[in-house]
Amino acid sequence: MSTCLFCKIIKGEIPSSKIYEDDDIFVFNDINPAAPVHFLIIPKLHIATLTDVEDVNRDLLGNMLLLTPRLAEAQGCTNGFRTIVNTGHVGGQEVLHLHMHIIGGDERLPVMIHHG
Ligand code: AMP
Ligand code: ZN
Repeated sequence: MSTCLFCKIIKGEIPSSKIYEDDDIFVFNDINPAAPVHFLIIPKLHIATLTDVEDVNRDLLGNMLLLTPRLAEAQGCTNGFRTIVNTGHVGGQEVLHLHMHIIGGDERLPVMIHHG
């Protein structure tokens, strides 16, 4: 999609701090990190949100998840990390190109899910 920020990053039209790339997946550091390690795993295919994923994307999604621990460890997450996929308005998704946030560092992350 020509107007999509992340499609432009994949094409190199907007600079990014790239961590990994293969035929189907692009990975780069978040420009406004929430923790010492904060990178984004995105499909090269423009899929707007998790809601738009279809059966045909099964391998792509599986490969994105399989990459996650390998890249997280390589970025210094030796004792765990958090994976977030914000979806749509309620999820607070700001960039409408599917992305997985991987967040971590040395410190335990703040509790995100409050019960009751
Ligand atoms: P979300 O709120 O889940 O849509 O997250 C979008 C993320 O994209 C935010 O964490 C932003 O900091 C990040 N972001 C926005 N523009 C860029 C950019 N040019 N390069 C890297 N990350 C970006
Ligand atoms: Zn896109």
